[in-house]
Amino acid sequence: MTESVTETRRGLILINTGPGKGKTTAAMGTALRAVGNGMRVLMLQFLKGSWHYGELDSTKAFGENFVLRQMGRGFVKIGGAETDPEDIRLVEEAWEEARQAILSGVWDMVILDEINYAISYGMLDPAKVVETLEARPEMVHVILTGRNAHPSLVAIADTVTEMREVKHAYQKGVVAQRGIEY
Ligand code: ATP
Ligand code: MG
Repeated sequence: MTESVTETRRGLILINTGPGKGKTTAAMGTALRAVGNGMRVLMLQFLKGSWHYGELDSTKAFGENFVLRQMGRGFVKIGGAETDPEDIRLVEEAWEEARQAILSGVWDMVILDEINYAISYGMLDPAKVVETLEARPEMVHVILTGRNAHPSLVAIADTVTEMREVKHAYQKGVVAQRGIEY
């Protein structure tokens, strides 16, 4: 790494998308790296809420430096008229909290976990997200996860990674495993 590269600090937009496993956990790995650098990380989980993920407990060890909040209730029914208004309300609430967190400058990194699903299900307008990301304080890093990342978000992101599924245990009938999936 050259000196000029290390001296030039700026907030980045990262997207972890694609059908393979590892989008959320890669974001948490990045959070772990950031917290170790003395940064403060907020992770808001859109749509999640019904499962008890291990990370809800492990992040508590980091106190106010790594805060994780589930903003949904899980098992969202999708598709136009079938979308439950309560789920849309929860997404709107999650987005409002996300927007304020990103603009506040209180957090060095904000992770919007599964936000890509909320957008692709038509529950959140991607233009609102683009507008907020473009208006954020310049040192704030934002990570967005979930399949089917919207092209307008991919366009403004700095680093976009698409997880490709080579195989997944689920395909041979293995149920979700503690410590791996939750
Ligand atoms: P993880 O949280 O393990 O990093 P992810 O964020 O990439 O996974 P999501 O789309 O958020 O994946 O789905 C979450 C759940 O679905 C996880 O329990 C994960 O193991 C499972 N999953 C992810 N990819 C696949 C797949 N290709 N086939 C079956 N299940 C999957
Ligand atoms: Mg995920």
